[in-house]
Amino acid sequence: MNSSTQLLVISAHAADFVWRAGGAIATVTKSGGTAKVIALSYGERGESGELWKEAGQTEEKVKAIRRAEGEEAASILGASFEGMDLGDYPLEIDRAAMERLTAAIREFEPNVILTHAKEDPFNPDHGVAYAATERARQLASGAGVASAFKTIRPPAFLLFEPHQPELCGFYPNTFLDITPVFEIKRAAMDVMGAQGYLREYYSQRASQRANHARRICGDKEIKFAEAFQRITPAVLKGF
Ligand SMILES: [Zn+2]
Repeated sequence: MNSSTQLLVISAHAADFVWRAGGAIATVTKSGGTAKVIALSYGERGESGELWKEAGQTEEKVKAIRRAEGEEAASILGASFEGMDLGDYPLEIDRAAMERLTAAIREFEPNVILTHAKEDPFNPDHGVAYAATERARQLASGAGVASAFKTIRPPAFLLFEPHQPELCGFYPNTFLDITPVFEIKRAAMDVMGAQGYLREYYSQRASQRANHARRICGDKEIKFAEAFQRITPAVLKGF
């Protein structure tokens, strides 16, 4: 990752990007690249449990809180945040939403896209976000040849780590050392008040992935890492 990296993270709900790709986002922005988060929904129904314990709570109020949290977390990570407000549990992508998402990809012209794993037996929306992102990426970049519509260079396509990776068919084949930005990720996680119970969980995960990363490459300085599954093959200019 370098100063020309344009990273787009597509998150089914307002907070998914923080737990699973916060380190990647901070790594890009700290090195002078640009990062944008698109939250397809605010996770107002399915991932805002703490907020619904308040008497008289409403969907509109929860959405506003989750949007504010998402914006603040993204800002701490150095990214912009766009909420598409498509609704959650269930998240549904109609033609208009697909066109909006495709247009957003064309406009931002990312060279890396991160999103959810293909499957998630515990979540009705994460797989929908994967399918929508895969399709919008294909529509934005065409078949890698000239098309009837404006196309962008095909962005690298990677999946961020789901909550229970083994059950989601997640195969971690790419690790990112997030040691230099881990405190930034921690600060962004602190903002997500509605899901505070995940902070410790994802801090532990970062330590465990760092253990794997150290064994893979021998770099003993890696203390925290994030794992990704790379879908598009890497194209090299040499070894
Ligand atoms: Zn989610």
